[in-house]
Amino acid sequence: MSETDTVASKGTPPSPRTRVRRMAERADYETATLHAILDDAYVCHVAFADERGVHCIPTACWREGDHLYIHGSNGSRMLKLAAEGAQCCVTVMHLDGLVLARSAFHHSMNYRSAMIYGAFEVVPAEQKAAALDAFLNHIARGRVNEVRRGDRNELAATTILRLPLDEAVSKIRTGGPSDDEADLALPVWAGVLPLALKPLPPERVAAQAGECPDDAPDYVKAWAQRAALTSR
Ligand SMILES: Cc1cc2nc3c(=O)[nH]c(=O)nc-3n(C[C@H](O)[C@H](O)[C@H](O)COP(=O)(O)OP(=O)(O)OC[C@H]3O[C@@H](n4cnc5c(N)ncnc54)[C@H](O)[C@@H]3O)c2cc1C
Repeated sequence: MSETDTVASKGTPPSPRTRVRRMAERADYETATLHAILDDAYVCHVAFADERGVHCIPTACWREGDHLYIHGSNGSRMLKLAAEGAQCCVTVMHLDGLVLARSAFHHSMNYRSAMIYGAFEVVPAEQKAAALDAFLNHIARGRVNEVRRGDRNELAATTILRLPLDEAVSKIRTGGPSDDEADLALPVWAGVLPLALKPLPPERVAAQAGECPDDAPDYVKAWAQRAALTSR
């Protein structure tokens, strides 16, 4: 797969290992770009090493300020290691399209991706509830005001970690194929097959003894509207 230059590099790499070397024009070191990529994500991949080797684990994530947050059971191997300060590499990626060129070589993909290096820090007990509120708001804004919040035992059983966004880089490819001049006349379809993660109609779980209100909250209605729009 080839990588052609479509986006000029923005900003300055925060460290030698975040300097994009291949297709450096696609690098973006701006905070706003990083935040936008992270805020579009529900999941990141956390890579770390232990005595069994190198691992890369998908997990839910959310951003608040200058940190990326993850959470889970206190028993999680990944969270235990990360809480101890293990060096990690976290990635987030959105696939925006398949790029079909006239030659096999120049096929590519459009994407927005981010990579963050560093060590997670443990979110202190007194900040856990607010951090989980932010997570719920990331999933569905306003839901935090409706659900039963975590009780003392649930909060105690949950580890929340945050990774500073100090050492991070984004890389983005947009646009069509970059065919060789000599191939432009070939009778081959060329272009982009766009891809997107899109909402589908909400699926309500049957109410149990009237526990679930009939009228859906605004964020569910908005989801349904987006689903209807994108299905056309
Ligand atoms: C979309 C998504 C969101 C998730 N969100 C969270 C979250 O918010 N918090 C959380 O704690 N966990 C989450 N998980 C589960 C997470 O991927 C891990 O399974 C979990 O954190 C346990 O990690 P561990 O290292 O303790 O697992 P262990 O059970 O100790 O892992 C042992 C081995 O099991 C295999 N394994 C573990 N997880 C996976 C996996 N997901 N897929 C395939 N093989 C696997 C690997 O070989 C791994 O080395 C999520 C998973 C997905 C796919």
